[in-house]
Amino acid sequence: MIDFGLSEEQKELQRLAREFALKEIRPHAEEHDRAGKFPREIAKKAFEIGLLNLNIPQNYNGAGLKVLDEVIIAEELSYGCSGISTALAANNLATAPVIIAGNEEQKKKYLGMMTKELTFASYAVTEPQAGSDVAGIQTSAKLVGDEYIINGSKQWITGASEAKWFYVLAKTDPSKGHKGMSAFIVDANTPGVKVGKKEDMMGQRASATHAVIFEEVKIPKLNILGVEGEGFKIAMKAFDHTRPGIAANAVGVARAAMEHAIDYSKTRTSFGVPIAMHQGINFMISDMACEIEAARLLAWQAAWAMDNNIRNTKLAAFAKRFAADTAMKVATDAVQIFGGYGYSNEYPVAKLMRDAKIFQIYEGTSQIQRLIIAKEIFLR
Ligand SMILES: Cc1cc2nc3c(=O)[nH]c(=O)nc-3n(C[C@H](O)[C@H](O)[C@H](O)COP(=O)(O)OP(=O)(O)OC[C@H]3O[C@@H](n4cnc5c(N)ncnc54)[C@H](O)[C@@H]3O)c2cc1C
Repeated sequence: MIDFGLSEEQKELQRLAREFALKEIRPHAEEHDRAGKFPREIAKKAFEIGLLNLNIPQNYNGAGLKVLDEVIIAEELSYGCSGISTALAANNLATAPVIIAGNEEQKKKYLGMMTKELTFASYAVTEPQAGSDVAGIQTSAKLVGDEYIINGSKQWITGASEAKWFYVLAKTDPSKGHKGMSAFIVDANTPGVKVGKKEDMMGQRASATHAVIFEEVKIPKLNILGVEGEGFKIAMKAFDHTRPGIAANAVGVARAAMEHAIDYSKTRTSFGVPIAMHQGINFMISDMACEIEAARLLAWQAAWAMDNNIRNTKLAAFAKRFAADTAMKVATDAVQIFGGYGYSNEYPVAKLMRDAKIFQIYEGTSQIQRLIIAKEIFLR
């Protein structure tokens, strides 16, 4: 039986997140965007009312929510401001590999750390020369005695300046391609870990994105996740957990852009009528509403599959690809509906358009989602 209704608990989570987004996020969005300020104070409030680290199991004092619950919350927080919600959600991507592949000791230490007090962690996979082509990374990890020595550079790491630890993908056996990659937890205060300058980004400017450099970084060999050679698999599996949430974040941005476009189109007049009366405008809004609904349903479906132990790689790629492209299209059309005012930073849709673009790039570009979908269609 198919049921698209939310349970009472889910409606309550949605209400809580929406209220938080409207009261605590949106009023501060512009300031954080302009200054590129990391939203530590907002994160603290989100942590206190239980809107952070939703994916961490209850054994480690987390909320232990289902992916579908996380997705419902993600849409609302991003509806407030996706730069701020991305800063809050970086933890989800860093902790997912630990939840998937960590042993009990690692989970107790690193997941426990996240729930004890406000703590940030980052997922460090991308490198200056390798983003989409993850197997092309150069960072190496060599086992010497009881320690791994890590050398290399990571690029575009969300929340890096705030992170207490990093999930790091490195090559332990470069001759084996993606099967020679391993996953590690690296404490940020380990000698040799350096966080580079903050990137001056087009959108989502509150999310503190930096390069991270590892120079002769010695970590205990116990900090490997799983066994040598499993890193690529773990890194990719993490995306099956997190892409439904990223899709929902994109839906939140699209919904905000559509609402602004609807309000504006009712008050702005041309040729003697509100512009909403022109079919050229109301068809644009009609398409926005339809595509946002479809994107949301894809995100929910991908989350539902994960919650029901159904392999969701293709569904998560459907959701991420469609929702990202929808957010970009809706935000661009919202700017169009605002006309010249849409191009001004004094009106909200310009920021939404800048923010929307990144959904087509991070956590796998829209092209890479298409590759994943094609691979699932032709090779499975
Ligand atoms: C704001 C921001 C935050 C980020 N946060 C993180 C983070 O926290 N952790 C992390 O590890 N990474 C992070 N990233 C990195 C992000 O995941 C990569 O930028 C992304 O995967 C693309 O990699 P790239 O930039 O190297 O582009 P490239 O891989 O060089 O791609 C360039 C272009 O070529 C296209 N392309 C590449 N290969 C193919 C192909 N086979 N077929 C068709 N088209 C192709 C791509 O789609 C893209 O359009 C972040 C990036 C940004 C901008």
